[in-house]
Amino acid sequence: MQDYPRTQVEFEHWFSSEEACRQYLSRLRWPNGFRCPRCQHGEAWQTARQLYHCKRCGFETSVTAGTIFQGTRKPLRLWFGAMWYVVGQKNGVSALGLQRILGLQRYETVWIWLHKLRKAMVRPGRYRLSGTVEVDETYIGGRRSGKRGRGAAGKTLVFIAVEDKDEHFGRIRLRRISNASAASLTPTVQDNIKPGSIVRTDDWSGYGRLATVGYQHTVVRRSADIGENLLPLANRVAALLKKWLQGTHQGAVRPSHLDYYLDEYTFRFNRRTSRSRGKLFYRLMQQAVAIAPVRNQDIRSRRP
Ligand SMILES: [Zn+2]
Repeated sequence: MQDYPRTQVEFEHWFSSEEACRQYLSRLRWPNGFRCPRCQHGEAWQTARQLYHCKRCGFETSVTAGTIFQGTRKPLRLWFGAMWYVVGQKNGVSALGLQRILGLQRYETVWIWLHKLRKAMVRPGRYRLSGTVEVDETYIGGRRSGKRGRGAAGKTLVFIAVEDKDEHFGRIRLRRISNASAASLTPTVQDNIKPGSIVRTDDWSGYGRLATVGYQHTVVRRSADIGENLLPLANRVAALLKKWLQGTHQGAVRPSHLDYYLDEYTFRFNRRTSRSRGKLFYRLMQQAVAIAPVRNQDIRSRRP
């Protein structure tokens, strides 16, 4: 049974009160009923302050404790509205756009919310890519083109992996990396792609160790034909990513924030065929209650 609203009208109907929002979070968090985080007991009283009081050990917890909503002083309805808006915008959202929708006074608050939500877009314990996977790197930011393996001033190197489904896009993974050496690329491949997969790369030396760590490594050699697209899927993802950063974020992405944007782009890309806004909302909500809270100061400290 579907457990999400499908339309704007349904959304407003479903989440018309704080209590309704809390109930929804509780269902997602404890699909098999309440579990005490301390003793695993399954029964609790609800206190007047909306806390769960464990009947066995007396531990008190709230439905938002241990989620990205932990410690929020804003109504859950506002959070839900923000998430509904975020998943409804096909090309991503800016903090200013969200601020207008929510009518929040402080830009800072909206900015922190967006970063928390992006954090929730990475599925905890997510699957690694498999099958045939195309791998490449690209530079983001800066003006001049950089030399591979050495890094270039003002540029950030991003690892790209794309599943090849009969020459169509499967799922993608994006990761910021410090350089294109084998010491950096090998573990990045291992983090993102299942062993045994066919990994297609160009003949860059940084990929030289893949066969020794359990991958079927296919090297696409540079040919004499200039302009031939050797890794078409990875190259297209690189181009789309740059276009998105340029369009939604006006290219104003600092290297220290890039991780968030890569996560957001990956979330949107891997669900691009899902037409249902409600399903995306549900997925984001599930992940929001499953990840550890992000402390505001951790986000603020990275702010320019
Ligand atoms: Zn307990």
